[in-house]
Amino acid sequence: MSDETPICSAKGCRTAAEWVLAWNNPKIHTPERRKTWLACEAHREHLSQFLGVRGFLKDVVKFSEWEEPSTP
Ligand SMILES: [Zn+2]
Repeated sequence: MSDETPICSAKGCRTAAEWVLAWNNPKIHTPERRKTWLACEAHREHLSQFLGVRGFLKDVVKFSEWEEPSTP
């Protein structure tokens, strides 16, 4: 296993991640805080929906275009 290859966050999935799902749980996180999940093409929708129905999902970004929010 390599740290260099980002792997999908879906349970049991070992596929390389292609998407970054940025989310925030307002009950436990400050509003600016972003948690991230990684998703392969097959799991992007499933994971987005999981977060979406809870109102946690903020952003879905291509992994190649994702930048960690910089803290000043
Ligand atoms: Zn996956």
